[in-house]
Parts: sequence; C-alpha cells; structure tokens
Amino acid sequence: MTRRVVVIGAGIGGLCSAIRLAQDGWKVTIVEARSSVGGLASGFELEGFRFDTGPYVLLDRPGLEWAFGRLGIDPNLHLQLERISHVYQVDDGSALPVSIHDSFEKTAAELDARWPGCGIHYRRFIERTSSTYGRLQPLQWKSRPGILDVVRSGAVQDIPFVLQSLGSVFRSSRLPESVVQALGIWTHVAGQLADKAPSPLALVTSVIHQVGACYPKGGIGTIPEVLFEKAVEEGVEFRFSTKVSRIRCVKNKVIGVAIEAETLSADAIVSNVGLASYLSLLDENGQAALPNRTRNYFNRLPLQSPGICAYLAVKGKPNPPYLRFRLRNELDGCRLLVTPGVIDPSLEKNGWFPARLIAPMGHARAETGGELGQRDFLHRVVETESWWRELFDEVRVLRTRIPNEWGGQFNLYHQSMNPVMTSRFMLSGRIAHRSPWIRNLYHSGSATHPGQWVSFCAVSGILAADQLLKDARDGR
Ligand SMILES: Cc1cc2nc3c(=O)[nH]c(=O)nc-3n(C[C@H](O)[C@H](O)[C@H](O)COP(=O)(O)OP(=O)(O)OC[C@H]3O[C@@H](n4cnc5c(N)ncnc54)[C@H](O)[C@@H]3O)c2cc1C
Repeated sequence: MTRRVVVIGAGIGGLCSAIRLAQDGWKVTIVEARSSVGGLASGFELEGFRFDTGPYVLLDRPGLEWAFGRLGIDPNLHLQLERISHVYQVDDGSALPVSIHDSFEKTAAELDARWPGCGIHYRRFIERTSSTYGRLQPLQWKSRPGILDVVRSGAVQDIPFVLQSLGSVFRSSRLPESVVQALGIWTHVAGQLADKAPSPLALVTSVIHQVGACYPKGGIGTIPEVLFEKAVEEGVEFRFSTKVSRIRCVKNKVIGVAIEAETLSADAIVSNVGLASYLSLLDENGQAALPNRTRNYFNRLPLQSPGICAYLAVKGKPNPPYLRFRLRNELDGCRLLVTPGVIDPSLEKNGWFPARLIAPMGHARAETGGELGQRDFLHRVVETESWWRELFDEVRVLRTRIPNEWGGQFNLYHQSMNPVMTSRFMLSGRIAHRSPWIRNLYHSGSATHPGQWVSFCAVSGILAADQLLKDARDGR
C-alpha cells in the first residue's frame, strides 16, 4: 500500500526530503504557507533586478553536490556555480582591510607583506584546518555520527579540536588580531562571540581555498527552483498559501496535520519549520508526549535573528571584493555589503546594479526594541552610515526588511531563523532528524544540522528522509 507523508514547509530541507521520499514511492504532499518554494533561500524580482532573499554565498559546495547527487540531480547541469575570486574583505577600522581571496597564495602573500612572518603562520593554520576539514567532512553526511564513524573517518585526533571554541582555535594560530577577526567573520554575521561559537567555523577559510566560495548564476534562489522542478517531476503534490496550524497526534504518534478546516492524514510527517514543530504546532496529545525538560530546554535556546536588510540599486560598476564586511564594536556587530555585479557584470541595467546591505541584530535586542527599535537600527545603518554609499555614484533603496517583517513574511518561529549555533548546542545535538518522543515525526532544515547553510539544509533533508525510509523498512 502506498504510504503518505506530509512535509511542512518548502524550504531547502523540506524540498530535499520530499523529493527523496517521492523517489522511494511515497505519496508526498508539501504544505507551504507562502505562495512559492525556497523559504529564506528564495529569490525575488524588484524593478527588473533579481535578488536573493537571505543567502549570498555557498561555502560548502561538496555538501550541496552530495545532496543533489542523492536526488539524482547533476548540479553542474542545473546550476552554473562560479568560484568567486576576491571573496571578501573585513575592515575593522584599525588600518587597511584584510582580504580573503580564492587563491591561498595571494591571500598569504598580502598578509605577509603587511605583517612580515604572518604568511608562514597563515600557511600552517590553513594546512592544519584543511586536514581537519578532510576528516570531519564525511561526518556531516551522517544523521548522528557515532564513535565508529569518527574512527572510520580518522577524525579521532580531531576530538580536542571539536571540543574547543572558535576563540580558542584562533588564539593558538599566532595570527594578528585583524586577521583573526577576518577569519572569524562568520561568527560576527551570526551575531555571536568567538568564545561561544563552534570551532568548525575555523575551517571555512581552508574550504574557500580548497573548493572555493561559490555563487550560482542567477542567484542562490535558483537552487530551490531546481529542486521544485525535480519535486514536480517526481510527483510531489504542493499545497501553497496553506498554513499548517497543528500536527495531529494520537497518543505519541502523528496521524496528520490540520490545515484550515481540514485534517490531512499522513503515515509520517517531515517538518521543515524547526522549533515551531515542538513549541507551537504539536496538538495536546503530542504536547503530552513531549517531556517537560525537553520543552524547557527548547524554550531556553538562544535564537538567531535574520537581522535587517536593504535591497538596493546602485549606480556604477561595483569593484571586488564580492562581500565587504565592516566590523563595528562588540555591541553593534557588523555590516555587510553584497555586490553580485562583481561576479556577474551582466546584471547591469542602464548603469545600475543590484546590491544588498545586511546587518545582524541580536534576537533579544530585536525583541526588546520591538518594531520601533528595529526601524531605528535600520535607519541608522541605511541612512546615516556613509561608508557603503561612498562606493557608488548613486544609491536607491528598493526594499528593506526588519526582523519582524522577516518573521511575518517567512513564517519564522519568534522572528528567528534558527537557534544560535553555539559550541554547546553543536555538541549536545540539534533537533534530531527523527523525533525521540513522537513516532513518525521527522525534521529537516536549519535547526537540525550542525550548521545553517543552504547546503546543510539540503543534506539534512536527505538525512531526515533516509531515516524515515529506514524506519519504514525496519517496521518501526
Ligand atoms: C539574511 C540571511 C543571510 C543568509 N546567508 C546565507 C549564506 O550566505 N549562505 C548560506 O548557505 N545560508 C545563508 N543563510 C541561511 C539559509 O538561508 C537558511 O538557513 C536556509 O535557507 C533555511 O532553510 P530551511 O530548510 O531550514 O527552511 P526555511 O527557509 O526556514 O523554510 C521553511 C518554510 O516553511 C514554511 N512554513 C513555516 N511554518 C509553516 C507552517 N506552519 N505551515 C506551512 N508552511 C510553513 C515557511 O514559509 C518556509 O517557506 C542566510 C539566511 C538569512 C536570513
């Protein structure tokens, strides 16, 4: 008998799970609150320019290729992934900005010219982190890697590294403070301090030098589009503009989802909506099956806000780098200017290019300040800070988003894209792909994987579906 699964949410994780399950013969329905797929990774058009909603760079091409491979999609055929040459620079206001290029040699030579002797420390750091990355990478493709997996991948020697914080990895690097700030920029983007951040973020620069930071022609939004086409081809049914209001359970087992006045029955559910699945969607039977300790733990997790964002049209061809980070003080976080015209000059329209200004905002700060505080912050970044405006002849702000708008438009739990990825959270484990408390409930997406990137969400979609298929085969 054909078995039926409902997937809640057509983000990257939900799409990947849906395709995988449909390919195994399941009848799959995706219920999506928005009118299109992709969630935070979707693209949209404004005044003839195509923008990415959230993501701006792919830092884990192997992960995306692994997930696409499992779905029978050839990424090279469907996505024109381009390696970015001058990836980013970080200006911490102290002196010249620090640049990270695709080329290791170029990056090291620039650092050495500025801090004589720094090149050798940089080489050692990259060599060390490259080997660690090589051993840890296959573990990302396991749902819950056990000690045997760690032994098999040769990563036993990396256990001390994984147990450290990002801050302590950097302290042992002997690199100048400005370089450390530049290498650790990804933790600032997440609005997090290096001493709380997980050590694997230290691997990003070696990945950039090895496999490259990539950008698909047409934008990151092309990724969910390719997945959508594949899902349709595999017979996945979509219910757009439909919000799941409850996950229905009998005792501790899912039986379907409530949408509008109807219940869609299902043998299993894959939820792509993170903490909301447990904290706002489970009905009273499901709630009764969730241990109080777990509910309290989930309720206390620090959340990550999507921050503020301005979608821009800028006049004048943007110069490299592709990403310009401006580090402020600890309280005020950082800013990021994204200029896709650097990678794809064909984006030009009558001398104008699309660009984006992003500033992280702590979740607690956004919640406490409310809409007024969020608008205030947006105004300060967009209207009063001049460093980014000075790069162009003219600037037009086409659209802005504050955390409350992200939350409303993308159906985010407490206006948050996911729980903050602290080293403690990474080690204690994110939301499990298979619910330990509710039978036949599975999870995919950014809250389930040790990392929130698009590629990780894709991998998580496969892992959640694989777990479900294995359980079904085992008669669990
Ligand atoms: C500003 C910003 C910058 C980022 N930069 C990068 C980057 O450079 N590189 C990178 O790799 N990643 C980046 N990310 C992260 C990445 O975009 C996300 O982690 C990823 O897209 C999340 O995918 P997901 O599968 O978890 O689903 P989501 O995108 O969260 O999608 C979930 C879907 O579920 C739907 N939904 C929610 N509740 C319900 C309900 N009750 N019923 C029905 N549907 C529902 C939503 O409408 C949504 O479509 C960025 C994110 C942001 C916000």
